[in-house]
Amino acid sequence: MLLHATGLEKTYATRATAFRRASRVAAVAGVDISLAEGGALGLVGESGCGKSTLARLLLRLIPLSAGRILFEGRDITALPEAALRPLRARMQLIHQNPSAALDPRLSVAEVVAEPLRIHGHDPRGRVASLLAEVGLPGDFLHRYPHELSGGQKQRVCIARALALAPRLLILDEPTSALDVSVQAQVLELLAGLRAQRGLAFLFISHNLAVVRQVCEQVAVMYLGRVVEQGPVDAVLGNPRHPYTQALLASVPRLGAAGVVVVGEAPNPAAPPPGCPFHPRCATAQEACRNGPPPALRNGVACHLAQ
Ligand code: SF4
Repeated sequence: MLLHATGLEKTYATRATAFRRASRVAAVAGVDISLAEGGALGLVGESGCGKSTLARLLLRLIPLSAGRILFEGRDITALPEAALRPLRARMQLIHQNPSAALDPRLSVAEVVAEPLRIHGHDPRGRVASLLAEVGLPGDFLHRYPHELSGGQKQRVCIARALALAPRLLILDEPTSALDVSVQAQVLELLAGLRAQRGLAFLFISHNLAVVRQVCEQVAVMYLGRVVEQGPVDAVLGNPRHPYTQALLASVPRLGAAGVVVVGEAPNPAAPPPGCPFHPRCATAQEACRNGPPPALRNGVACHLAQ
């Protein structure tokens, strides 16, 4: 297994204000994630459900409150920053917004060469081939971010992420800031790179159709927890958790029989008692209000799951 994480938790303390008491917010609560070499796992759920926080925990960009992370079989949970550095080369993050990810003062050549230089490699000859790999011609080397389209900027970010020959790409909504016409091209590029380089993807998205296209496995998150997990065709083709059913019902093209999710996601600082989804769940029962659902059982965390 390339990545194996168990019991991941991230809690934040909130300060007291005139309107509310200090409290603790669980952004990620008891999540287990596994990703095989060359595999692709989609992470889906509404905004604020903890997807991006989970990604940053896995990369050790923010401290864990609890849990354990194995990468390439090595326990990286408590590795000091100096020991993490060489591992970071093999686990790279691609952001949603390429404009924010690129330093406007650096040319394309400098942007792509930077990680090579930081890790002590000679970038000469490597940068042009990385650009070619993401479908950009050599004359882009001397351009600056403001001279690029959104799709071209994301290609530069991908080239930069590939510079150190990673094994894992964590892609945080990588096409959501792009024009629809460009999204398909970038997804096609990513699929080709994955096949050629044997990359594993942790693919964060709210777009279920894209996750179905890119990934073999999917985990559905609600309020910091994974509520359903399994092969993408099974989970998105025959969803068993009421939240997954509601997410799918809200995408007419993917259309699942079921109810559309109602209301806003609750405040993570004051989650409902019992199952945190119960105020929005059409099949909630008394047990759902009285106690939390069981841990994932056969890929589903719900009182009513068989
Ligand atoms: Fe709905 Fe109850 Fe299942 Fe929660 S545990 S998803 S409220 S049926």
